[in-house]
Amino acid sequence: MNAAGAPKSHPNTSVVALGRPLHAPDAPINPHIAMSSTFVGVDTPELNERGYGRFSNESWEPLEEAIATLEGADLPGVSFASGMAAVSAAISLAPIGGVITVAGTSYNGTMSLARQLHDEGAVVLREVNALDLDATIVAFQGSSLVWLESPTNPLLDVVDLPRLIDAAHQAGAIVVVDNTFSTPLRQQPLSMGADVVVHSATKFIAGHSDVLLGIALTNQRQLHERILSRRTLHGAIPGPFEAWLGLRGLRTLAVRLERAEANAIELAQRLSAHTAVTRVRYPGLSTDPGHALASTQMSGYGAIVSIEFETKEIASRFVGSLQLATPATSLGGVETLVERRRRQLSEPEEVPEELVRISVGIEHIEDLWADFEQAIQSATRKDL
Ligand SMILES: *Cc1c(COP(=O)(O)O)cnc(C)c1O
Repeated sequence: MNAAGAPKSHPNTSVVALGRPLHAPDAPINPHIAMSSTFVGVDTPELNERGYGRFSNESWEPLEEAIATLEGADLPGVSFASGMAAVSAAISLAPIGGVITVAGTSYNGTMSLARQLHDEGAVVLREVNALDLDATIVAFQGSSLVWLESPTNPLLDVVDLPRLIDAAHQAGAIVVVDNTFSTPLRQQPLSMGADVVVHSATKFIAGHSDVLLGIALTNQRQLHERILSRRTLHGAIPGPFEAWLGLRGLRTLAVRLERAEANAIELAQRLSAHTAVTRVRYPGLSTDPGHALASTQMSGYGAIVSIEFETKEIASRFVGSLQLATPATSLGGVETLVERRRRQLSEPEEVPEELVRISVGIEHIEDLWADFEQAIQSATRKDL
C-alpha cells in the first residue's frame, strides 16, 4: 500500500503515512472501503485469493500493515471484530488439554475466558502473580502458552516482560502479550521476544470510543497461519468500515497519546497530593513501584491512572459527581472516562472496591482538574 521504497520513518510519522494508496494522479489519499461480501472469482484457485468476505477484504489490509510495521512485525496483522476476538484466537493457540499460565491481573475478559476454558476441561489454567518473578517462572514449567499484559488493567502493575518472555521460552511455551495499554508507540513486545501481540484496537488505536476492533500480530509464519485460520473459521471478522475507522483513529495516535500522557502525569501528581485520595497508581510517578521497570521497557507511561479513596462509597460518589469526565467503562478515547471497576461483577477480587480507573483524555488539564476537585469535594462532604 505505502509508497515502495519510502525511507523508514519515525513512528509518529508512520501513524500518519502508513496504509495509504500509492500516489497517482487523482488517487484518493485514504483507502477505499469495500462494502462487498464476495469478490469476482476466476476458476484458478491460486489466483482467486479473496474469494469471499470472511476470508479477506481489502479494507482490512491498510490497518493490518500499519500496525504490523509499528509493532515491528514482518507479517501483516490479523484484524478481528473486537479485542476479545483477537484474545480468543490467541488463547486457542494452546493445544487442547495444555497448560496456560495467565498473569492473574490481566484484563477481566481474558481471565473469564481462560477460567471458562479451564472449567470446561479445554485447558488447565494456572493463574500467577507476575510481580512474583520466582513463583511465576516456576509456574511456566510444563506450560504450552503464557499470557502477559503490562501495565495491567486496572491495577497498572508493570510486569518484567523481557525476563518473563525469556523464562517462558526456556520452558517451551508460546508467549502472548496484550499490548493494549501501551500501544505500539510505547512498547513493542515482539522486539522483546514475544511470539504474539494482541490489541483491543477499540481503545487507544481507534481512539474515539466509536468502534470495536482487535488485532493480533506475529513474526512467525506458522502462528500467523493458525491465527488467520481462526478468524476465517470462527468468523469474528471486522467490518470494512470499522477497519477504516481504526486506521482513521491511528492517524492521530501519536498526538493523542502525547496530550493524554501529559494530562495523566499532571493529574497523577495532583491527586497524589490530595488528602482524600489514599493511593495513586501510575507508572509515570517516580514513587510508583513499577516506575523503574516501566522506564526500561516502555518509552512513555500511558494514559491510564487508577486512584483509591478511603471507602467504596466515596469512590462511587466521586464517579457520580463528575460533570466533564464521563462515568463509563472502556478507555483510550479522546474523552476522559472514569469507572469504579468493582461495580462490574466479573472484576477480580484483587482489585480494591474503592479503586477508580481513569482513562485520561485530551481535554484541557485545568478543566479536568476543576472537575476532579469538585467531584472529590462532593464525594467527601461532611454533611452526607
Ligand atoms: C478492552 C480490552 C480488551 C478487550 O477488547 P474489546 O475490544 O473490548 O473486545 C482486551 N484487553 C485489554 C487490556 C482491554 O483493555
